[in-house]
Amino acid sequence: MSQFWLRVAATLIYPVLFSVLIGLAAGWAVGLGVLSAILLIYLLIHMRYLGMLERWLKDPQARAVPEGGGLWERAFSSLYQLMRIQSRSQSKLSAAVDRFQSAAQAIPDGVVILGEDDEIQWCNPVAERHLGVDNRADQGRPIKYLLRQTAFTEYLASQNYAEPAVMKSPTLHDTTLSIQLVPFGDAQKLLLSRDISALERVVQMRRDFVANVSHELRTPLTVVGGFLETLLDNDSIDSAERRHFEELMLDQTKRMQNLVQDLLTLSKLESSDNAGTEECIDMRRLLRSLNEDAKSLSAGQHTIEFVCEFDVGLVGSEAEIHSALSNLVSNAIRYTPAGGHIKASWGRRGADAVFAVEDDGPGIDAQHLPRLTERFYRVDRSRSRETGGTGLGLSIVKHVLTRHQARLEIQSTPGKGSLFTAVFPARRVSTQTQATLQTVS
Ligand code: ADP
Repeated sequence: MSQFWLRVAATLIYPVLFSVLIGLAAGWAVGLGVLSAILLIYLLIHMRYLGMLERWLKDPQARAVPEGGGLWERAFSSLYQLMRIQSRSQSKLSAAVDRFQSAAQAIPDGVVILGEDDEIQWCNPVAERHLGVDNRADQGRPIKYLLRQTAFTEYLASQNYAEPAVMKSPTLHDTTLSIQLVPFGDAQKLLLSRDISALERVVQMRRDFVANVSHELRTPLTVVGGFLETLLDNDSIDSAERRHFEELMLDQTKRMQNLVQDLLTLSKLESSDNAGTEECIDMRRLLRSLNEDAKSLSAGQHTIEFVCEFDVGLVGSEAEIHSALSNLVSNAIRYTPAGGHIKASWGRRGADAVFAVEDDGPGIDAQHLPRLTERFYRVDRSRSRETGGTGLGLSIVKHVLTRHQARLEIQSTPGKGSLFTAVFPARRVSTQTQATLQTVS
């Protein structure tokens, strides 16, 4: 016999014995009546406990487990134990859910949990921003009705989620997203969205760069090829014309050499963020060297003035600084028509040191100024080519200055001229004066 029935028997034994004794003393009818009365009281007690149980079951979270006596005491105490175990595992579960949600909210990617029918069950704030869905309002709504881009609907229908799909964000302007679906559980899916706009821009820049370089090289190569064909096919060309062709070919070859040289310089500058070998640059000597180069480039066509107003040196890579400043000077000479004036100066602005090149050339329209330091950006393509420009000069200047924590300022008025200023921070100014610097003339 089970424990339960033993306890039932123990509970009933006394009323039955009591009724038998009454029956022996006062007759069986009285004994039976007493037994019935006792059983009725028992029934009422059990009904009361049953009522308490029913009331508790209606709202077990809000009410305490009822207390009972006899058989009910054990039943209620077992229920109480059960409740405690359940509430412990529930709080563990809700702590785990909280942890998951705060982790999912912290990750920089969008996360959407999709149910069996690809309906939204939950999403983090990044997914709300990327995809324009709402964690509360869109719960239960199929994702395909909210994200209608063909790239996404085809990806969802393909059932092949090995590779991510790429699509434009429906809400964020100019944002490209990588969308990856990851099946999990029975038939659920995790949708992950990542902003890959920066990566896309780099890929686009690389494409543009390759196209630009190919274009820049194709023109001189075509010219050289054309002249060579003419020379090979025509024995009758006289020596003066032949010399003229050879000179033109040499020009084009120099143009290609300049381009390759500038590309190598740029690639070297881009391979590290910091300036090359740092040294104390004697600015007087550098200015003298720039002045000589400027005069030879101008070939006496311009009035050129070099001024040293700040008797300090500069800490940096001499080769890089020379290349940057000489680009500014050569631009001024190349773009200023014959008869123009060019003034280069090394001076100070507050605690900063500045190298400025001013010309009274054609000037540059304001709309071009923000883009001048982009690779291959030119205002006047043919003028740049005529003067041997590669379109990379100011890009090199910007890189060199950035590596020296300096900046380039450009002021220009069309028809009046331009002022290019390289501003070096005070910490780049050498405390040694020019006189104490080792000057190699
Ligand atoms: P480029 O090799 O074509 O000179 P840069 O990068 O040095 O390339 O300059 C970019 C463009 O900026 C030039 O093509 C030219 O249109 C413009 N520019 C630069 N310096 C001057 C200047 N001093 N005066 C007028 N335009 C200039």
